[in-house]
Amino acid sequence: MSPANQIPVKKQPFRPPDEVPIQYLKGVGPERAKLFARLGITTVEDFLYHLPFRYIDRSRIKKIRDLKIGETVTIMAKVVGSEGRPTRRGRSLFTVVVADETGALRLKWFNQPYVETRYKAGEQIVVSGEVKWYQGREIINPEVEFLAEEDQALIHTGRIVPVYRATAGLSSRVLRSLQVKALEAYTVQEFLSEGLLSKLGLPGLPQAVPTVHFPPNEAEAKASRRRLIFDELFLLELVLALRKKRTQTIKTAVPLPCEGSLVRKLLSDLRFRLTPAQERVAEEIRHDLRRESPMNRLLQGDVGSGKTIVAAMATLWAIESGHQAAIMAPTEILATQHYFVFRDLMGPLGVRVDLLRGNMKRTEKKTALDAIASGESQAVVGTHALLEEGVEFKSLALAVIDEQHRFGVLQRAALRKKGRDPHVLVMTATPIPRTLAITLYGDLDLSVIDEMPTGRQPITTRWATDEKRPQVFDFLRREIGKSRQVYVVYPLVEESEKVDIKAATEMQERLQQDVFPDLKVGLLHGRMSVREKDDAMRRFRQGEYPVLVATTVIEVGVDVPNATVIVIEHAERFGLSQLHQLRGRVGRGNQDSFCILLTPGGVSEEARARLQAVVGTTDGFKIAEQDLRLRGPGEFFGTRQHGIPELRIADLITDTPLLYLAQREAFALVEEDPGLRLPEHVPLKAKIQGAYSRKWGLIAIG
Ligand code: ADP
Ligand code: MG
Repeated sequence: MSPANQIPVKKQPFRPPDEVPIQYLKGVGPERAKLFARLGITTVEDFLYHLPFRYIDRSRIKKIRDLKIGETVTIMAKVVGSEGRPTRRGRSLFTVVVADETGALRLKWFNQPYVETRYKAGEQIVVSGEVKWYQGREIINPEVEFLAEEDQALIHTGRIVPVYRATAGLSSRVLRSLQVKALEAYTVQEFLSEGLLSKLGLPGLPQAVPTVHFPPNEAEAKASRRRLIFDELFLLELVLALRKKRTQTIKTAVPLPCEGSLVRKLLSDLRFRLTPAQERVAEEIRHDLRRESPMNRLLQGDVGSGKTIVAAMATLWAIESGHQAAIMAPTEILATQHYFVFRDLMGPLGVRVDLLRGNMKRTEKKTALDAIASGESQAVVGTHALLEEGVEFKSLALAVIDEQHRFGVLQRAALRKKGRDPHVLVMTATPIPRTLAITLYGDLDLSVIDEMPTGRQPITTRWATDEKRPQVFDFLRREIGKSRQVYVVYPLVEESEKVDIKAATEMQERLQQDVFPDLKVGLLHGRMSVREKDDAMRRFRQGEYPVLVATTVIEVGVDVPNATVIVIEHAERFGLSQLHQLRGRVGRGNQDSFCILLTPGGVSEEARARLQAVVGTTDGFKIAEQDLRLRGPGEFFGTRQHGIPELRIADLITDTPLLYLAQREAFALVEEDPGLRLPEHVPLKAKIQGAYSRKWGLIAIG
């Protein structure tokens, strides 16, 4: 690398950059600091980690005379003149003529009125783009940067220059100048051991940071970026590994012998046999429950794979060992369903099951709370209401969280606090891509139910447009004629909840009056009272309603095996995983099942991709991978509340190999040195306990 190309780096920082507010960087000040905040930058370190999203190679500035058609080039030139006019097709065209000492060139923009004010004759600019030919050489929509006189030519031109995500008042160019100042004044200290760096072939951090901003060549830019991505993933995995190690080694849980007769009785009373997969995961759970270290296990299995019965077994193991179990579900409907399932399964065994949810009558609630506190209540099923103050268990030995992806990591911790380090089993039906599982649930042991109960028929999925509605209704009628039941689902978009409920209500009325006057059509939505909801669900479950019109309140967990058709109205409005979940409401018995996606005639490209994916596969993992690709990790679960760490640099979709590497190395390191006590791990420990854990809200090591 040529010395002229290197940004000078001062070796001794006077303060670590993570402790210096960006305001104090030379050239920033309080006003600009506000602009920086918009980019999520509050400290100098944040800024050093504000990496270019791409580079422009200006190391080879061409002369206009030498430009060839089809080449992507960078030139430095002066504005000669400009002109804006409409084209014949009614678009607007803006043309700028520029020249250097060897020739002239046209720059063109279509339909971009905002560029016009900026080009004044005599302005010095750097232009990048592909050279085209139309009555002379030209570049369409070029990348342009204006050079002020005081510009340090070295930073902005004549090299590979970084392009940053910018904001109003803080252009990429300004950021570039300030970055040079930051790099001159601060160094990010190395925190990985030399051994690890050389083993993985990673460059040192004090060099990698300046190099990623001002690389001498593409290869070094890549290597430096790789180092920074690795860091981010490695620190995340390290925290998870430490947390996992800690739960595995503390001996604070109540070991449960799991030797009683309840589970045996449960299984002999069941109308089906467990699948080998269910047996296997149940054994994994039993193994954990017998230990003095708290279980911390994720039970993953596609929609309908039969997780509930496994949770029931775990619950009974806790109870037959003389303790209590809590089961938390994300919706009232699901909690109520679990309550009835558990009561039916366990009542005959002499086990007392209680239900705890929001808006219960005061006296009802008091009775439940008393029974929970006295230990009389052995299995407690509930919603978030379980987390409330005042819910006190006599001896909570097991906490089960169903549909974990609907809760946050914090709720997991809150439920755990209801006992003294109870065993925790979290279950998720949305199969999540492995990359997300590693980052989100990396501290959990994993059990997977990877087969469906025997006799299940594949669900047939069809996408139809609205004008096919009469045929769809005919089909429903035929299915109902075979004593099957049908869901008709309406989307619920937060902003227009009222409108949606109105649509669902109207649909119910229409179906009742015009389409199925001889049948009972039920209605279920979130604005109904608890009593009304219970009632509607009960009637549908008992077969009194052949048709249930519902909003997405039935999205997760609801289990009515006799329901074999689900019609999803406005299917184009649902996310991919959501469609998969909804489809999972059918196909839960041995009959042929159907999912019909209804949409208006024209849908967006994105919606089309989603609908085709759902039609194309019933494999939840494939759907999840596709969903992650379409929406990105932040949106994957619909909200940001789920404890997915916000990655600044790494991208879970493109950086998968580095994620696996980081995971392997982090877990190996913790195996070797669980307390991070070796001298070469001291900087790492400091890093994790310092700014990193503050920023990420992660618990550090004890
Ligand atoms: P999920 O994994 O989606 O929570 P559930 O536990 O609700 O699935 O199970 C779906 C349906 O399959 C339920 O009606 C349940 O009784 C039934 N089921 C569970 N295990 C088996 C099995 N081994 N054989 C047959 N049916 C089963
Ligand atoms: Mg379930």
